[in-house]
This record gives sequence, structure tokens and C-alpha cells, in this order.
Amino acid sequence: MNIPFSKPFVKKIHDDTAILPSQVSGKMKIYGYETETLMTVSATGALEMMGLLLDLKAGDEVILPSFTYAATANAFARTGAKLIFGDIDPDTMNLDPVSVEGAVTDRTKAIIPIHYGGVSADMDKLTKIGHANNIPILEDAAHCIGAKNGNRLLGTIGDMGCLSFHPTKNISCGQGGALFINREFWEEPAKECLHQGTDRMAFYRGDVSEYTWQRLGGAYTMNPYSLKALYETLDFIEAVTLERQKVWQNYYDGLKTLEDQGVLKLAKIPKYATFNAHIFYVLTPYRQALLNYLSEAGIQAYTHYEPLHLTKIGQKLSENRGRLSQTEKAASELLRLPIYSGMTEMEQAYVIEKIKHFFK
Ligand SMILES: *Cc1c(COP(=O)(O)O)cnc(C)c1O
Repeated sequence: MNIPFSKPFVKKIHDDTAILPSQVSGKMKIYGYETETLMTVSATGALEMMGLLLDLKAGDEVILPSFTYAATANAFARTGAKLIFGDIDPDTMNLDPVSVEGAVTDRTKAIIPIHYGGVSADMDKLTKIGHANNIPILEDAAHCIGAKNGNRLLGTIGDMGCLSFHPTKNISCGQGGALFINREFWEEPAKECLHQGTDRMAFYRGDVSEYTWQRLGGAYTMNPYSLKALYETLDFIEAVTLERQKVWQNYYDGLKTLEDQGVLKLAKIPKYATFNAHIFYVLTPYRQALLNYLSEAGIQAYTHYEPLHLTKIGQKLSENRGRLSQTEKAASELLRLPIYSGMTEMEQAYVIEKIKHFFK
């Protein structure tokens, strides 16, 4: 059997009527997301916009996990701000509030949690730290379409947040992202930033007779073809999420005995998190051997992030306040199993059986 790690969920465009440039941004309600939503070229683009809107500069600091994709770091490092890496909670792989608290200074300009695998970070505690120190929370919710903390969708809880529709995510439109502006005073600046820093949106509304350069921005709008594809793909989001959750639960139930025997560790989903099963992982000190064994059985399993603080560029641009021992442990033990919409029960059973056999 050959089991790929993932299969992108993209749909063909059926409706080829033109989308006007003015519709590419502005108030768009997708999948119950009620806040101001700007459709962006990518999650990376949305994160860069956050950095521009905060007007970050050299001497400023932002706190983020080291256990994340380079995109999270790039967007803020390019402003000149220093990256301060916090450690993660070993149950969820999410930014540990205790570590964040110890890293805050009067130079801290943003706290940037990611929600690993679509499982919410501890937003109550992070928000408390943010409020107490007057620091905005920016959610990298790239994994999180449809996932929640309590009854709030991830990406809409902090001051700003973003989603990704990259082919590796639960649903895709080739390339694209969304930026959520959850504070009213950033709404107009964000729209300007989206359109090369011009007041083009005000022009579309008829508020100004021509549009001019107002602030730093970029070509951050999602292209209209991707947007069409995305709107058609969004109709499938609930079905896709349900299918992935079934695979996730099946893996969990099938591998629980191994966790009880102490040979591997599984994720612990906090009570406040309604997750979208973006990632299923196991943690084991025998990761490399397990990966090789699965690979020989035709099963594509992947490790994940190399901690950013251990890379050369990461060291140049960052500082860690305290040891990042949980980050380093997770990075050396974490293995992601295949999970995708359309994965058959036979394929799932095969993966579980092979893992059990490995640990015999
Ligand atoms: C995928 C991903 C991104 C980047 O998403 P793009 O839409 O490809 O720019 C950013 N952060 C995290 C945590 C991601 O997994």
C-alpha cells in the first residue's frame, strides 16, 4: 500500500464570472467569521501586514514560539524587530504563557501565538498577559480554518489573526490567506496596507475622487481566480473537517494502548479547544527508526519544524529568555502521520497496524 502524507483539497472553478477588484477585500463573511476579513495573497502576506500596521522597527521586540514555520518569523524579523522565542507546552506544542510572561519587557510590541495543528493556544492566559502589559496579540491561525477556542473562531480572538489556504492546509485555493482585523481602529489602515498603502477602498466607495499613497503597504490582495476557487471550496469545509476528525479519532483510539504502555505520547486536547484535525502526531524517542519503518511500508510520515532558534539566521535575529527545552524535545520526537479528506478506513487501519507492529 502507498499512503501519501496529504492530498490537497482544491475544487475546480465552475463560476467564471469576473470578480471586481473592490470585492477582493472589505467585509467578507466566510464560514461564520464575523469580523473584518481581508482576503490576502497568503498567510505570510497577512502576517507581513500585521508587522506594517504595528509600525515595528529596530529596537522593538516580538514574542513568538521557536517551534513554528519560518513564515511567522520572517514577517516580523524583516521590520527590524528582534525575535524573542518562547517555549511550548509539551501537551499541545503551543506557546507556553509562563514562558511568555518571563520574556515580556517594555520593548515588547506583540505576542504571536500559533495554534499548532488547529488546536487553540491558551488564549485566556495569553490575552491576560497582553492586556496587563498593553501588548497586542497576533494569532498565526494558518492551520485553523473552522477551529475554535470556546465558541470563538481562531484568528478572531486576538487583536489581529490570519488563516492560510496553502495546499498543505485543510482546504486550499492554490495560494491564499485571510487577515482578520478584530479592532476597529485598524480596519481602514489595514485596507490601505492591502492595496499598496493607498486609499483605493475609499475610492471604490466614492469617498475620495482619486486614490493616493497613505502608508506602507504592498500587493497583498488575493488574486480573483484564487478567491473564486476558495469560495467554491468553502462549501466543503464542514465535510472535510468532519472526515479529518474521524481519521484523527481513529488514530487516537488505535494508538492509545501504545501511549498507555509508555512507548509513545499523543496530543492532549485542552477543554477549551474545538480543533479541526489539521495534524495528527505522535511523540517518540524512536522517531527516526519509526519513520524509516513506515517509509519502507509505503507510508509517508513527516517530522515538523526545526526550532528556529537553532538555525543560523534564527540565532542572528533572536534572543531566547530562558531555555527552550520543550521545543527541542518536541522537535526531535514529533512525527506527523498521513491525514487527509478521502483517506479510507483500510488505509487508516494499515497505518495503525504498522505502528503497532513497529513497537512490538
Ligand atoms: C502554512 C503556514 C504559514 C504560511 O502560510 P502561507 O499561506 O503559505 O503563507 C504561516 N504560519 C504557519 C504556522 C503555517 O503553517
